[in-house]
Amino acid sequence: MINQTSVRLGSNRSVIRELFEYGKRRKAEIGEDNVFDFSLGNPSVPAPAEVQSELLNILKNSDPVAVHGYTSAQGDALVRAAIADYINSKFSVGIGADNIYMTCGAAASLCIVMNSLLNRGDEVITIAPYFPEYKVFVEHAGGTLVPVQGQKGTFQPDIQAIKGAVTPKTKAVLINSPNNPSGVVYGEDSIAQLCKILQEFSEKGQTIYLVSDEPYRELVFGGVKVPYIMNYYDKSIVCYSYSKSLSLPGERIGYIAVNPAMSECAEVYAAICGAGRALGYVCAPSLFQMLIAKAQGKTADISVYERNRDVLVKALLSYGYTVVKPDGAFYLFVQSLEPDSDAFAERAKQFELLLVSAKSFGVEGYVRVSYCVSPDMIERALPAFKALAESYKK
Ligand code: PLP
Repeated sequence: MINQTSVRLGSNRSVIRELFEYGKRRKAEIGEDNVFDFSLGNPSVPAPAEVQSELLNILKNSDPVAVHGYTSAQGDALVRAAIADYINSKFSVGIGADNIYMTCGAAASLCIVMNSLLNRGDEVITIAPYFPEYKVFVEHAGGTLVPVQGQKGTFQPDIQAIKGAVTPKTKAVLINSPNNPSGVVYGEDSIAQLCKILQEFSEKGQTIYLVSDEPYRELVFGGVKVPYIMNYYDKSIVCYSYSKSLSLPGERIGYIAVNPAMSECAEVYAAICGAGRALGYVCAPSLFQMLIAKAQGKTADISVYERNRDVLVKALLSYGYTVVKPDGAFYLFVQSLEPDSDAFAERAKQFELLLVSAKSFGVEGYVRVSYCVSPDMIERALPAFKALAESYKK
């Protein structure tokens, strides 16, 4: 018999993918413009023009053997040095090229990190709501994901609840801020308190790593700051991706950064190289390694997302919805108008609104609206949101 866990994972699509596929069928039936698809987190703005021209420049002017060739397993040394320089210029953490491992995006970064840290039976605490794939990544590495509810209404980490969830098997805490699906940015207070508690466990002899999944770091509005965990806690690892910040999700490029202040940094980095090797995640795409070395500090035009957020939040509040106003990412968390968010998302379909029920994100009573869509679609969808709200008043 072949591996039944893999068969199950490959046969059951995620709720988000199911909804996206439903949307494709529905668009074919009633026309593209008549379906308001808020299901996927696919960036709707292009990569910055200078990044696109740099890509053409590399293709035209670089040695094709190098462009299309293997790099070192952990990524090209000059590329890793460029990333390290940029991190140091922003966060002054003294990181070097040998603390960086190039990956095919945040998903690969997370899989590698989990496989490098976990032994069978280890636990990884995360904060709900959370990206559903975390469960897949942690379980594949032999661990158990332990979700802890965020604070009611704000979805900031509940520090005491996290402390209460720690057991002798806890190996890591996995956070994601700006958060998918709530758009919430974890405040400096929350991060500092969380790190203080992890430090206390560390001093008592239990090392708990803090892993920060950061594909949305650059997508923040109104000057909100996203604390850099290496400045708060030594035993920290960042999983970064250019999928959303540069609108390059299809190119599969990102990295893992290990905090050089951690005493066992070299061993953790070796484990990351080993897990990458065992999973076959070596030599991230070399063309895109070259590209991102030239694109440090650049970000796609996120003003479109900010405008979409503002239009949606204002309209939905006026229709009587309760929303968590997001400071980042491109997701809006909306309280469902009935306790069962699956039933609410199903009812929304009658109005051609495709909203993701938050149950798969580990939270009851909310739906996720991905507003990385055209402003025009947002405007056209507003009457549907209004009609959906009114249908509950009848
Ligand atoms: N983590 C979170 C929270 C995400 O939302 C996503 C993608 O949507 C990923 C990880 C995976 O990102 P990547 O495309 O870089 O693999």
